[in-house]
Amino acid sequence: MASLMPEHPSKPHAAPGHDYQALLEQLRQLELLTGTLRLLRWDQQVCMPAGGTRPRAGQAAEIARLLHTRWADPALGERLEACEASGTIDVDSDAGAILSETRRRHERARRLPATLVIELAEASSTGFDAWRAAREANDFTLFHPALARVVELVRRKAECLGWPERGEAWDVLVEEYEPGCTAEAVATVFDTLTPRLNGLLDELRGGRLAIGAGAAHPPLSETAQHPLMRHIAECFGFDFTRGRLDATIHPFCTRIGHGDVRLTIAYRPDDLGRALGSLTHETGHGLYEQGLPEAHAGTPLCQPASLGLHEGQARLWENHVGRSRAFSAWCAGELRRFLGRAVGDLDAATLFAMRNEVAPGPLRTEADELTYHLHVATRFELERALLDGTLSAAELPEAWDEHYRSHLGIEPSDDVQGCMQDVHWSVGMFGYFPSYTFGSLYAAQLFEAAEAELGELASDFEAGRFCALRQWLAERVWRHGRRYPAAVLCERATGAPLSIEPLLRHLAGKLRPLYRLER
Ligand code: ZN
Repeated sequence: MASLMPEHPSKPHAAPGHDYQALLEQLRQLELLTGTLRLLRWDQQVCMPAGGTRPRAGQAAEIARLLHTRWADPALGERLEACEASGTIDVDSDAGAILSETRRRHERARRLPATLVIELAEASSTGFDAWRAAREANDFTLFHPALARVVELVRRKAECLGWPERGEAWDVLVEEYEPGCTAEAVATVFDTLTPRLNGLLDELRGGRLAIGAGAAHPPLSETAQHPLMRHIAECFGFDFTRGRLDATIHPFCTRIGHGDVRLTIAYRPDDLGRALGSLTHETGHGLYEQGLPEAHAGTPLCQPASLGLHEGQARLWENHVGRSRAFSAWCAGELRRFLGRAVGDLDAATLFAMRNEVAPGPLRTEADELTYHLHVATRFELERALLDGTLSAAELPEAWDEHYRSHLGIEPSDDVQGCMQDVHWSVGMFGYFPSYTFGSLYAAQLFEAAEAELGELASDFEAGRFCALRQWLAERVWRHGRRYPAAVLCERATGAPLSIEPLLRHLAGKLRPLYRLER
């Protein structure tokens, strides 16, 4: 598969001077505002009382407006120009990478009128409220006018940003998450990936997965589960002097500032896998954030390369470590040590089997490692159609159900289990979903390369040792921040362009034996 990014992105020239120092100071101030906005959002999802919703929306919108104004500021553009004109050519210098990314962000902000940014922020807030109300009432008609408004504004945003002649609106929206990616490239990936996943799924249907009786352990409270989750994050290498772990409904990880990374996970008394899955995933995000180079704090060199690569770190720890047989063996012992008899007969084999069961279902967030990507492919096709106008917001439920019938062989029971299950579109996040699948591709390719160099890591994981893997990732990925585009960084780390093969090898290698299909 072709690389998604040019191999040698052109970088402007720069030599550190007065303008450059002033520019760095401006970037640090922008980072302060960004961290403040993230803190407001973290607080909203972890601590804030329900009554705070309205004032918080106003506070967040005001900071978002300030951020946009400062990124679009003509004075920032002039300073950038002065820096670009003053230096000697050095494409690999820190200054070159910082200027290139700052130029990209400035150009995007400059093309968006402040009025549109505000309209979009308001429509997203209304969209989110309508989505929540429509879900509670299980009534799509309460949601679709707000969704139609969001789609219209997102389209206008894409028009302001402009896309290349043979491209489409989706291409400029994905820039925000995965710079350099295009709808055509994503479609090519799914065109080859989904038939192969379906092929494996068909094979597994002919196999047999035995889940031991220990899966039916007694309920475990959040208070009981929490110390174990914290312990696992610590063993992975998450530094609690520079981060914390809290409970929420929709798990996420955020960095308030360098030295302050917040993990949030979800607990379910009847399902230990929920906390284990979200903990291993979010810790992967957190390790990346903690591994970014402090010397460059406040600049793009201390930022993740892309959302897809960020997701890649999360999925590597969630799926390649946390869902491995070796981790299950170690974890079963730790479960008994922390929770004693409360875990009943839950042993390593049962834990491994229950965390790797493949079963197509209606919900993306509860999907297994294989069918997950069929959910993503569906969303990608639908959001492309919403943006190019071939699908209207009102027609979404019907189109959704049709896609689920043909892609997953499933009939969602209602729109809450169907087209209203995800928050993304209600708040204007179009182009986001494929990052999840690209994350899995990055994860599989990085993990395969790490094992090729370090040797099989299973004996490390069985002993609760994750240091070698962490150091490999820190060296190959994390310390580079946003110095290279994600696809280039992945290729440098693994020696090959991003491909679907490592993910397919990983899934077949784990699932075939688990389903007694080993040939
Ligand atoms: Zn994630």
